[in-house]
Amino acid sequence: MYIDGVWCDAAARFQVVNPANGETVGEVPDGGDADAARAIDAAARAFPGWAGQTAYDRARLLYRAWEIMTERAEDLARTMTLEQGKPLRAARNEVRYGADFLLWYAEEAKRVYGETIPAPRGDQRFIVLRQPVGIVAAITPWNYPVSMVTRKVAPAIAAGCTIVLKPAEATPLCAIKVFECLEAAGLPAGVVNLVTAADPAPIGDIFLTDPRVRKITFTGSTAVGKAIAARAAAQMKRVSLELGGHAPFLVLEDADPVHAAKGAAMVKFLNTGQACISPNRIFVHERAVDAFTEAFVSRVGRMHAGNGLDDGVQIGPLINEAAVEKVESQVADAAERGAEVLCGGCRMTEGALARGAFYAPTVLSGVVPSMRIYREETFGPVAPIIAFRDEQEALAMANDTHYGLASYVYTRDIARAFRMFEGLDFGIVGINDINPTAAAAPFGGSKESGLGREGGHEGITEYLETKLGGFSI
Ligand code: NAD
Repeated sequence: MYIDGVWCDAAARFQVVNPANGETVGEVPDGGDADAARAIDAAARAFPGWAGQTAYDRARLLYRAWEIMTERAEDLARTMTLEQGKPLRAARNEVRYGADFLLWYAEEAKRVYGETIPAPRGDQRFIVLRQPVGIVAAITPWNYPVSMVTRKVAPAIAAGCTIVLKPAEATPLCAIKVFECLEAAGLPAGVVNLVTAADPAPIGDIFLTDPRVRKITFTGSTAVGKAIAARAAAQMKRVSLELGGHAPFLVLEDADPVHAAKGAAMVKFLNTGQACISPNRIFVHERAVDAFTEAFVSRVGRMHAGNGLDDGVQIGPLINEAAVEKVESQVADAAERGAEVLCGGCRMTEGALARGAFYAPTVLSGVVPSMRIYREETFGPVAPIIAFRDEQEALAMANDTHYGLASYVYTRDIARAFRMFEGLDFGIVGINDINPTAAAAPFGGSKESGLGREGGHEGITEYLETKLGGFSI
C-alpha cells in the first residue's frame, strides 16, 4: 500500500491469481479499515498544500507521470495480462489510453476557469471560482485496471484534490505499478494514497462514513454503485458513478452487413466481452440478418483463445469461475427459451485452457425479451442477434433497458445516423465507430449506468466545487 508517501504492508497479505492458468502471480497487503483511515488522514494533511500549488506546478507533475508511465508501458501491459488475462496487445492499448488521462489532465489543470457575471445592482460584482472539492475516495474495477485508475486520479489531482484509491481485489498489481509511476514523478506525500484489500466492504465503510471525504468516485457494478450512492447521501458526499451497461448494436437496412459484422465482432469480444460498453444485444434489419450472421459467425468461429502472453491470442480468460458460471447460466436460459447457439456455447477445456476460466466465443440467434440475456449485463463473450423490421421498432427495442451507457449504429445514410444519434437514450453513441472513447471525450452513462462523466473537459469538473463571490463596492 502507498500511504503518506511511504510503501507499507498490512498485517496480512492476499494472493493475486492469473485467470489464464490459476497460477499465483503476486501477493499484496490485505489492508483494513485502519489503513483506509490512515490514508484519509494523510490525504487531509496534504490537501491544503496541494490545493495551494499553482495549476502549472500540478500540471508539471502530471506530465512527468505521463512520461514515466509511457516509459514503463511494456512492464505495465505484461502485469495486466498476467493478473487480468487480456491479450498483451489489448493490454498495451489500455496502458496508452490510461497514460493519456495523465497528459490530458496535465493540460486541463491550466484551464480551470472561473466566471464574472453581470450583477443586477450597479454597486454589485459577481465572481465565480472553481475550487477543488477536497478529499476524494476512489474505487475501481478489474476489467480495465490501469485506465480506470488514471481516469479518476488524474482529474482529481489536476483539480487540486487529494485522493485515496482502493483498486479491485483481482487486479491490485496494476494499481501498484501506476502508483509507482506517480511516486517517481515526485508527487508530495499524501496527495495520492493506495489501499489494497481482499475485502472491499470495510474500506468502503470508512470512505462513506468519514466526513472529511467529500467525494466518492466509483466504477463497477450498478448494484454496488447504487448502495454507495445511497450511503453517500447520508453525508451529502458528491458521487460520480460509472456503472454497468447493456449496449445495443444496430445494423440498419442500408449498412454493409459484412463490414458491420467485422465491427461487431471486434467490439463484442474485446476483453472477452468484459467491458461496460460491450454490445449485449445486436439488432440487425431482417433483410441484412442472414448476411450479417454468416459473416459474424465465420469471424467469431476463427477467434483464437489462450494465454494473453502468447502470440495471436484474441480471446483471454474470464476473470474467475463465477464469471464463467454467470455466462453459462445466461446461455442455458436463452437456449431453454428457444435461442439457437450458432457457435460456442460452452466452456473451453482443451489442453492448457482447462486450467483457466475460458468460455468459447458464442453467438446466439432468435433472442427474445423474455430471456435473461436480453436484459442482464453478460460481461462475457456472448453475442445475441435479434432481427428487426423497421428503424422505429429498432430504436424502441434498443432503448428498452435500464442501462444507458454505450450504443452503436451502422448505417450509410446521414439522416438515419442523425435520427439514431438523437434518439438513442445512451451517453455514448458510436456511429460506424466501435471505439468512441478517448481521454479528450466525455465518457459515462444515463439511467442506471451512472452519474457524471469521466474524461474530456467535463471530467475535471467532477472534482471542482463552484463558489460565488458577491461583492458590494
Ligand atoms: P463490482 O461492483 O463488484 O466491483 C467494483 C469495485 O467495487 C471493486 O473495487 C470492488 O472491490 C468494489 N466493491 C465491491 N463491493 C464493495 C463494497 N461493499 N464497498 C466498497 N467497494 C466495493 O464490479 P466488478 O465486477 O469489479 O466490475 C464489473 C462492473 O463494472 C460491470 O458491471 C461493468 O459494466 C462495470 N464497469 C463500468 C465501467 C464504466 O465506466 N461505466 C467501466 C468498467 C466497468
